[in-house]
Amino acid sequence: MTVTWIEEANEKGTEFPIDNLPYCVFSTNDQSQRIGVRIGDSLVDLKRLASGKLLPFHAELSQPVLNGVMSLSKSDRVQLRNQIEGLLEDKSGKLRDNNELRAEAVSCISEVYFHLPAMIGDYTDFYASIYHATNVGAMFRPENPLLPNYQHLPVGYHGRASSVVISGSRIIRPNGQLSPPDGGGNPTFGPSQRLDYELELGAFVAMGNHLGEPIPIDEAEDHLFGFCLLNDWSARDIQKWEYQPLGPFLGKSFATSVSPYVVTAEAMESFRAAAIDRSEIPIPLLQQSTPPDLLPYLDSEANRAGGGLDIRMEVFVQSSRMREKDLPPFKISDGNFKEMYWTVAQMLTHHASNGCNMRPGDLLGSGTVSGFEKTSRGCLLERNWQGDFEQPVSGSNRILLEFPNGESRDFLEHGDEIIFRGFAENDDGQQIGFGECRGVVS
Ligand code: MN
Repeated sequence: MTVTWIEEANEKGTEFPIDNLPYCVFSTNDQSQRIGVRIGDSLVDLKRLASGKLLPFHAELSQPVLNGVMSLSKSDRVQLRNQIEGLLEDKSGKLRDNNELRAEAVSCISEVYFHLPAMIGDYTDFYASIYHATNVGAMFRPENPLLPNYQHLPVGYHGRASSVVISGSRIIRPNGQLSPPDGGGNPTFGPSQRLDYELELGAFVAMGNHLGEPIPIDEAEDHLFGFCLLNDWSARDIQKWEYQPLGPFLGKSFATSVSPYVVTAEAMESFRAAAIDRSEIPIPLLQQSTPPDLLPYLDSEANRAGGGLDIRMEVFVQSSRMREKDLPPFKISDGNFKEMYWTVAQMLTHHASNGCNMRPGDLLGSGTVSGFEKTSRGCLLERNWQGDFEQPVSGSNRILLEFPNGESRDFLEHGDEIIFRGFAENDDGQQIGFGECRGVVS
């Protein structure tokens, strides 16, 4: 492991060692919005380093968002990362030994405010966990949970970019047309009574493609800049009534939270995993038949061998009563991104397969990250559903999620804070952390 002069970053178990160096956009009380990287408990101001001629790409690093850096070629991105790493390594004195520059360019994490990492032109949300899709499908169609397209293409919908907010932003409970009761009747208009989170991984597009020119599957990784945690807040009662036939709309577009750090594709290099084995999905219904062959444009040797990502993803909740009594957040679920059915490369390639142009800073959401185990269900809609893969039951069969302090929930209540945490970890316990994605329902 590389050693840095930012000493706390060398400690075992840190989420932000020099091997991570996630990008973010931050400001301080006396400095406006700028690009930084996190290392240990510090944020390093890359605009300042570029203006001091310690880093290349001055124009890109001077922007108040990461879109310019995201638009660089893969080799330029690697070069920039290597130079940042060089300045933070022990052997380099250029930054470490320049007291004035160091005081200006290195801030303590407690002194900064975070902003959205990119100007997000477009946001698309997928549905890439077959466990999530099967559970949700089974609530409505117990005998036939997966629609015929699911194993052929990564299903997605166009999300709303304007309401993507940075972690920590309050989440205002949306009003909307709420579905009539199951027995029939008319919808009502009012605050959602079934507000939910969805645990997802976000991916930021790096360099784009020209309109009309698809992105081949074996080039897709070069078009992926990095990853963050993403909460696709969902109003289930609005969604249930509006989603047919054109998909999610106002039940989703009121807010989507993202974590401040963008963990680069380069930092994730040693945490690549094989894509899921499609013939070994442990869902009884699926094991009755062999999965359909992928169409060639979605399949490649490299994607099968390393298209997956080994990232632990956890959900915690802290109610306002827990906060008042200083009780710690309570863990609701624990999953891993390597259980996803579709890889991020397949999502990007499919998205551009009709010639749709992707642009630097575009955001892809993976869809709810749920695994085979019940403890890894990534939203309350699924978490509190009584059915499972052996015994799918219709959606009205629900249990309550019990908190250690005696409170219980079906869906989220006023003051509940949802906290996502994510990290990759190797056999030696060294981590590449994603930090947190937080939001309080108000
Ligand atoms: Mn979603």
